[in-house]
Amino acid sequence: MNNSRLMTPFAGPAVGDVSLPGSKSHMNRALLCAALSEGRSRLSGVLFADDTEAMLEAIVSLGATVEVDRENFEIEVTGLAGAPNFRDLVIDARSSGTTSRFLLPTLAGGSGVVTLDGAQQLRSRPFAEQIEALRYLGCDLEELGALGQLPVKISSQGLEGGEVEISAETSSQFISGLMLAAPLYTNGLKIRLTGLLVSRPYLELTVKVMRDFGVSVEKPDEFTYVVPPGRYLATEARIEPDASAASYFFAAASITQGRVKVVGLHRESYQGDVQFVDVMEQLGAKVVWGENFIEVEGDRIRGGTFDLRDFSDTAQTLAAVAAFAESDIEITGIGFIRRKETDRIAGMVAELAKCGVEAIESEDGLIVRPDLWSLRGASIDTYGDHRMAMSMALLSLRIPRIVINDHDCVAKTFPDFFSCLEELRPKVKPRGEVVAVAAIDGPAGSGKSTVARLLASELDLPHFDTGAMYRAVVVAALRAGIDPENQDAMTDLAEKTEISISELIIIDGVDATDEIRTPQINEWVSVVAANPGVRRALVARQRKWATEIGGGVMEGRDIGTEVFPDAIFKAFLTAQPEVRARRRYEESSVQTLGDVKEDLERRDRIDSTRADSPLQVASGAVVIDTSELTIQEVVSDLASMFRSVMED
Ligand code: C5P
Repeated sequence: MNNSRLMTPFAGPAVGDVSLPGSKSHMNRALLCAALSEGRSRLSGVLFADDTEAMLEAIVSLGATVEVDRENFEIEVTGLAGAPNFRDLVIDARSSGTTSRFLLPTLAGGSGVVTLDGAQQLRSRPFAEQIEALRYLGCDLEELGALGQLPVKISSQGLEGGEVEISAETSSQFISGLMLAAPLYTNGLKIRLTGLLVSRPYLELTVKVMRDFGVSVEKPDEFTYVVPPGRYLATEARIEPDASAASYFFAAASITQGRVKVVGLHRESYQGDVQFVDVMEQLGAKVVWGENFIEVEGDRIRGGTFDLRDFSDTAQTLAAVAAFAESDIEITGIGFIRRKETDRIAGMVAELAKCGVEAIESEDGLIVRPDLWSLRGASIDTYGDHRMAMSMALLSLRIPRIVINDHDCVAKTFPDFFSCLEELRPKVKPRGEVVAVAAIDGPAGSGKSTVARLLASELDLPHFDTGAMYRAVVVAALRAGIDPENQDAMTDLAEKTEISISELIIIDGVDATDEIRTPQINEWVSVVAANPGVRRALVARQRKWATEIGGGVMEGRDIGTEVFPDAIFKAFLTAQPEVRARRRYEESSVQTLGDVKEDLERRDRIDSTRADSPLQVASGAVVIDTSELTIQEVVSDLASMFRSVMED
């Protein structure tokens, strides 16, 4: 079975409105409350995914009656009106942390014998603190496998409740589970949290959902929750769209400089993960908080340090965004995510490294040190973690040849993830006002010129080598005996010299096709190109060229950043420095390999540090490392990306 998915970059801004599936966190809480309620509840906007199917199956096996309308995303639940009774029941929570940790205290409050189990992945996740707390409250629990882990056999005759202490450091799900079950206990429950609390907003979500079902939880201080004994009352609840899932789409807007609106979320949303939007804003994105939507428009991606303790499910999303940032991004407060579906910190560090992104584990998080020139495609492992798959898929928006292995693991919370993402793929109509420019930038030796020429012929578009223009100005200066460092005289030449660029390069009527590539021109061209007057003159001529003929494939150093920042398609070609030097050396044997390398490094340095439009990856541009690809592979990748942007 081929369960790997080859991703195609967007090569343009992700734009659109997304309707996301319901929140797993909201849904599984509501399902349990509905199952314990008196009466018939109706849940709308529900999510059908692995984790919620696990909870649905469980409540049915406990005796709740469930009617499912998959087409309209609605579920009706007739509840048990109190604690469950069971007889030698086995509940399979699959891989669902919420299902298992929400149910365990409820089962402890029921009567009979029941075994709670799950998939291998869940069996290796921690349960010790919750098991201990329930034992303390008088429940008879037996671990059938390893201590502190599933499967667990519960022999219960109801619980009195009272007061319990529990560490909040490993998972807030332990506490949410106790809160949800507490109304079933004869005396209710006072829960005292010890240790540093992770994911506090999830506890607030639990309180809100319980309130929707008629039970009010008190919070006398930061570390205490008091739940009275009582009965849940059936209600109608609309499940919010999943804010963790939304993070991938906000990130897509940021990475591609696009604009994405998620309907159904807002500032007052039940879910803490909407705070991810604040991080996007601090990085440089523009955010609109609507009454019933949130819109993120990508802009710069700055660096910074972010504590994600309260919304750690978005940590991998942020790490993926960080691959495209202007400087380092450090994520702190998330040491505990090492014990989620997989060790999420180690997983991200390893998979980012495959894509050329340096990331370093820290004690409670990770630091991503982006270098856009090193990005490359890779075969990505997902470790059975839906969030690995969804976050690493974001890199493919701007890096070709990313393959997501076992992509089906997204079914845990978001079966339609890939088709939802696909809906944001940019499409332009190349008619009318649009100048259909494919901007190809990159350093010398990246393969840019050959690729751009072949791409133009494959797409049947005009080709424009803007580097040849800068070279032509140097030729004109040397012919006229003008000092290339004389800024005013060079600006004058850039404005007046007649330059014709096609198969042949004609300067003031004289063929200079070979002359522009000589070491003498190489020596001066970057110095001349750093002259702002020369740039101003040549950029204006380049824009005019493209606008007059309606577009084409333009290659250079600043096409995507300066000449056509709104180009419909932007790519940045790179290659490892040794590869670039060898390519140039093989093109002309006039210099030694060492000299060629030195000359390239010198030009890279001048080009990327000059004050005026330095050579850098344009925002939103696809980055292609050509080191290990053939020219034909690069051309065909670019051609299919370009075509995917154009509407028929
Ligand atoms: O692409 P090529 O190597 O022919 O470009 C020669 C030089 O022209 C570059 O090193 C750079 O200094 C300059 N250049 C530029 N902006 C462009 C194209 C070329 O500054 N758009």
